[in-house]
Amino acid sequence: MKIDFEKHVAKAIFHSPVKNFELDSQQIETRRDPLTGLTTKVRTGRKAWQRLYTTDEKLLAEIAEKTREGCFFCPERVNKATPRFTEELIPGGRIVVGEACLFPNLFAQKEHSAITVISHQHFVRLDQFTIELLANAFKACSIYFNRLNQSKPNKYAEIGFNYLFPGGASIPHPHLQVLASDWPYFLIANLLENNQKYYAQHSACFWEDLVETERKIGQRYINRLGNTEWLVPFAPMREDEVHGIVRNKSNFLQFDDSDWESLADGICRVFKYYKEKGLSSCNFALYSGRLSQKLDYLWAGVRIVSRSSVQAQPINDVWYSQNILYDGLVTEPPEEIASSLRNYF
Ligand SMILES: [Zn+2]
Repeated sequence: MKIDFEKHVAKAIFHSPVKNFELDSQQIETRRDPLTGLTTKVRTGRKAWQRLYTTDEKLLAEIAEKTREGCFFCPERVNKATPRFTEELIPGGRIVVGEACLFPNLFAQKEHSAITVISHQHFVRLDQFTIELLANAFKACSIYFNRLNQSKPNKYAEIGFNYLFPGGASIPHPHLQVLASDWPYFLIANLLENNQKYYAQHSACFWEDLVETERKIGQRYINRLGNTEWLVPFAPMREDEVHGIVRNKSNFLQFDDSDWESLADGICRVFKYYKEKGLSSCNFALYSGRLSQKLDYLWAGVRIVSRSSVQAQPINDVWYSQNILYDGLVTEPPEEIASSLRNYF
């Protein structure tokens, strides 16, 4: 096997007050991602933590109702309150596909920075997202990337999703962040470098080998949807992390409609799993190599993670260890996540 799943197991030993001060132990694993080299801690004991991450549904319904009035992304205000592109770049100023509407971000994060509002509906619960809603939003992004690439080729591009305030969204109305620039994010640069090294060393694509290996092991592989492969990573950096990978395509401009639909399908299934677990907030990011460059060694894809849920006093799931020391931390082993998630695929 070319792929090395490296893990170190340790035990924390103590006299436990919840077991009448008998000697007890907890297992901690340090795992290293076989491609990126990033390390993470896998703790057990999610059951004790689950209560802290469970949604206050009443509060969530109140927030959804309270924020509806005055929302810039609702259909009655979106055309009056959001920016427009220049006519040369996007004739008409905005891109509309079904309910999706893409326009410039008023608070740009990169040279090319847009927002795609996903739905006409102000609040969409995690289990109410449909393949059609998400796929149309992705297709609007694809039109934008194509237009950008015609005028300024060779950009790096990403599509991000912050859902609800624990996930970093200031507006609950579901929307995507759509970005392109000359500089890749850290993870993309890491994937490009390590994919290229693996390709040179083994004369094989890492992703092809990963999918084949994970399928054989059977502990973290989920399923294939169309041209996309779904799995839970060996070394997750964040809670409930799930990866979707598009076979043999390194950038967004190579995706056809069925690829966008398969990605939307997989994301909707993960959302349903999160919702039934009591969660309400999440992030995802779709990543790509340079828009004009077809690479044999990179497969583009999506990574999805859950976040702390909507509560009056939410416990943030990102601690000093992730925020400052740059290590991952999860409280439920990925093999257990995969076992539950398979019921949704
Ligand atoms: Zn709204």
